[in-house]
Amino acid sequence: MAERGIPAGTHDVVIVGGGPAGLTTGLYAARANLNTVLCEGSGTVSQITITDLIENYPGLPDVTGFELINRFREQAIRFGLTVKAEEVLEIAPRALGDVMGWKVTTGGGEYRACAVIVATGAAWRRLGVPGEEGLIGKGVSFCATCDGPFYRNREVVVVGGGDTAVQEALFLTRFASRVTIVHRRGRLRATGVLRDRAFANKKIEFAWESVVSEIRGENAVTGVVVKSVKLPGDTREIPAEGAFIFIGLNPLTQLVRHLVHCDDGGYITVDSTMRTSAPGIFACGDCTKKSLRQVVTACGDGATAAHAAELYIDELKGQAY
Ligand SMILES: Cc1cc2nc3c(=O)[nH]c(=O)nc-3n(C[C@H](O)[C@H](O)[C@H](O)COP(=O)(O)OP(=O)(O)OC[C@H]3O[C@@H](n4cnc5c(N)ncnc54)[C@H](O)[C@@H]3O)c2cc1C
Repeated sequence: MAERGIPAGTHDVVIVGGGPAGLTTGLYAARANLNTVLCEGSGTVSQITITDLIENYPGLPDVTGFELINRFREQAIRFGLTVKAEEVLEIAPRALGDVMGWKVTTGGGEYRACAVIVATGAAWRRLGVPGEEGLIGKGVSFCATCDGPFYRNREVVVVGGGDTAVQEALFLTRFASRVTIVHRRGRLRATGVLRDRAFANKKIEFAWESVVSEIRGENAVTGVVVKSVKLPGDTREIPAEGAFIFIGLNPLTQLVRHLVHCDDGGYITVDSTMRTSAPGIFACGDCTKKSLRQVVTACGDGATAAHAAELYIDELKGQAY
């Protein structure tokens, strides 16, 4: 790469994250002949690998999350994308000949790039109540697909009232004898079709207008203490061996918070072409500020980000069409 003094070995694009957003942006970047490497992390995984069935990805009505992400990966690699199982530790500005680019440091080495596309997704929020932290992996779970089968004929609690909480509660009824959904409001936020299924399912009970105040158990969960948000002092313990928590997401954006503008919740703000406030850094998927966090929207963002990065790199190298 000799354009504008850009040193040989510099990548056009480094993508951070191997979920639907990252792999789609990788597919588009590879097909645009950009010299691209995707670092998918070593200690983190895409959210869709921890979900069971994805029913709302168009054209694939019965696909599992695991199968879908594998298809994304295979398709992108077929078009030349390099995927590395490396966690990105730092992104820093770096002069590349006559232009400014980025240095990306991973657990496995260092990359220079003209552009970086951040697709780091989000992770489940904790309740922050006594018992939760110490009982993670001993009954407290953030993944019904991973842990559901351990609860055959046992009672479990699901915390939350959105799509994911209800979807995962329905999945858990395949194993558990009873699933109690604890929700702080008096009605579910989940979409109509999921609500209807939950109300029709005889194994699902509801603890409305209630929040969890403690998760009990020594070496394993034995019960979940809930308190009413309406009636002070109204507290009860729901016997349960599993507590599945789905109360929302925290964006995984610590890597770039000092480089790009983020909203109060830590989500990266992007324009309609997925540009961030820093030239050469693009972001897509669940780590960005947006109204709907789903596979299909993450893929759309990814395609847009790759296109914007391509135009940016052409401009940077003085090759704009
Ligand atoms: C239980 C559950 C059920 C769901 N059900 C559905 C559903 O039915 N339909 C639907 O459309 N959506 C569903 N979703 C939402 C969907 O999974 C997300 O919207 C989608 O995965 C977002 O894609 P993403 O690529 O932005 O982020 P993610 O899928 O979270 O991927 C982020 C990627 O970034 C990587 N990463 C993070 N930090 C670093 C780092 N420092 N270095 C390198 N890599 C890093 C992670 O390892 C991962 O590969 C569900 C989510 C969950 C958790």
